[in-house]
Amino acid sequence: METFKRVLSFARPLGRYWPGYLLLSVLSVIFGVINYGLLGPLLTVLFDDSAAAAPLARPGFAFSVDWVTSWFSWFLSSIIRSDGLIRGLLFVCGAIVAASLVSNVCRYLSQRIIVSLETRLMKNIRKALFSKIASLPVGWFNQKRKGDVLSSISNDVAEVQNTIAGSFHVFLREPLLVAGFLAMLIYMSPKLTIVSLVALPVSAFFVTRITRRLRAGSVETQRLMGRILSHFEEAISGSRIIKAFRARRYVEDRFENDNEKHRRIMRQVRNRQELASPLSEFLGIGIASCVLFYGGWLNYHGDLGMSWPQFIVYIMFYWKVLEPAKTMAKSYAGVQKGLVSADRIFAILDAPAGIPDGELPITGFSDALTFDHVTFSYGDAPVLTDICMTIPKGKTVAVVGPSGAGKSTMADLIPRFYDVAGGAIRIDGRDIRTLRMEELVSLMGIVTQESILFNDTVFNNIAFGQTGVTREAVVAAARVANADEFISALPEGYDTNIGDRGTRLSGGQRQRIAIARAVLKNPPLLILDEATSALDTESERLVQEALTRLMAGRTSLVIAHRLSTVRHADEIYVIKDGSIVEHGRHEDLVANDGLYSHLCSLQAFS
Ligand code: ADP
Repeated sequence: METFKRVLSFARPLGRYWPGYLLLSVLSVIFGVINYGLLGPLLTVLFDDSAAAAPLARPGFAFSVDWVTSWFSWFLSSIIRSDGLIRGLLFVCGAIVAASLVSNVCRYLSQRIIVSLETRLMKNIRKALFSKIASLPVGWFNQKRKGDVLSSISNDVAEVQNTIAGSFHVFLREPLLVAGFLAMLIYMSPKLTIVSLVALPVSAFFVTRITRRLRAGSVETQRLMGRILSHFEEAISGSRIIKAFRARRYVEDRFENDNEKHRRIMRQVRNRQELASPLSEFLGIGIASCVLFYGGWLNYHGDLGMSWPQFIVYIMFYWKVLEPAKTMAKSYAGVQKGLVSADRIFAILDAPAGIPDGELPITGFSDALTFDHVTFSYGDAPVLTDICMTIPKGKTVAVVGPSGAGKSTMADLIPRFYDVAGGAIRIDGRDIRTLRMEELVSLMGIVTQESILFNDTVFNNIAFGQTGVTREAVVAAARVANADEFISALPEGYDTNIGDRGTRLSGGQRQRIAIARAVLKNPPLLILDEATSALDTESERLVQEALTRLMAGRTSLVIAHRLSTVRHADEIYVIKDGSIVEHGRHEDLVANDGLYSHLCSLQAFS
């Protein structure tokens, strides 16, 4: 129930929907009841001459169903007496059509209100998910399977829409219908109705029994759907590797395994869900037959208390009570599945915000960025131990070491993608955890090995996240980044869309756009994490030129695999297994004959 309420809360403010919806629904139910109520006089007219012939006095007004029916009978019989039976028949049929028209128009209008509530609700859920995902800490996505999140966004949102949001009218309007028809039943024959109502809890018991187990099955199918989507994701983004390693069989088998499991559990869940409707239909007919029998029995003993056309109308009303009851049973089964999806969506929305923001302002720095006895681990095994490093303002500091040593991790700690486990990182002596995160990050320009571009124009990719950027500024930044030339050669220049993740560009071109982005941002501190590692020599030269220009006059932390790119750094830190093993200038380190000079000799460079 909590989850259901929370789903509903996404359509806030609900106040604007209820009054109109309630009014229209009540009208639709009233006219629906009238519609069936008119069948009584119709049958009387058709088959019971004596009733039509009997002269009737106009009934005095009273606020009751009795008055309505007797007024209608009087009106009808006066038409029959003055204009004949056929006219009377025409009148009843016309009245039925009119009542049905009003009832269905009201129903359609009330449905429109529900549709507007539904679409608004789904939009708000997606909006909340997107802004949550955009705000979650970097580390969260490593623990969570991407497929799970994608599955939530596509499947779970759709499931909530189809089941929960789609069931609102069922749970709002159908009870009204049940109440309306039930009131008529009790009015017509309290005795018969009370006896027949005893049967309803029996059918409710069976239906809830089937649906109870639906929830558990749904949790499992949705978990498996997450895995299936992650297989798809891997197959799409890793398509080259799969082909290069002829791993098709392997990935297909892995996929098939989960796919088959999903099929099996899904079959169980769906079978159960499908059982709800036929079962309640069967139980409904069973109950209606009992009523029919009991009514007939009462009639036989002269105890029914109504005419036989009324009894037929009574049975019809009874049938109309069962119909919404069946719809509710079916929707209830669906909602159980939807609630599982809603829970998964809320698990994402409720994920802890992770890294707490600091409070102190920071607009620049004047002295140095320091790692002060920093330790860090992703899980149990320590990744960084007791790192002490100083990056003085205006200097270039390099971090080198074998792969897996922890270099990228060090870079990730500075913009607080992760927080240190021990020690502190300080800017001008202030712990970065005390500073406002947004202002902290705005001091930095980050260029990584895999530059992240978005499916947008070159211009927007360079101006990324900044507002009011002029074309001149973007072009100037692209020039510094050695990118202007190739951008101008693109079919639509700066307005060319670069495709998903910039796939229409070469690695070096993507990197230069990322550098132009950093140039435009003009940050005092630069973090270059293997910015040239993935490039061929020619691209590397162009990118390196761009980087040298970008670094001029700034403070930089350069992480590099190729030592040739860092030999001019003011200070080089060599790390191994998460610890600093030596540091100094290139010449000193070579002279030291330690790990650095060993790495240099491996790369045939000194
Ligand atoms: P380098 O950049 O020097 O190659 P990294 O900083 O990327 O090294 O990784 C250091 C260690 O931390 C490696 O052992 C790596 O397996 C581990 N590691 C890196 N990223 C994660 C992560 N997101 N979750 C868990 N372990 C990680």
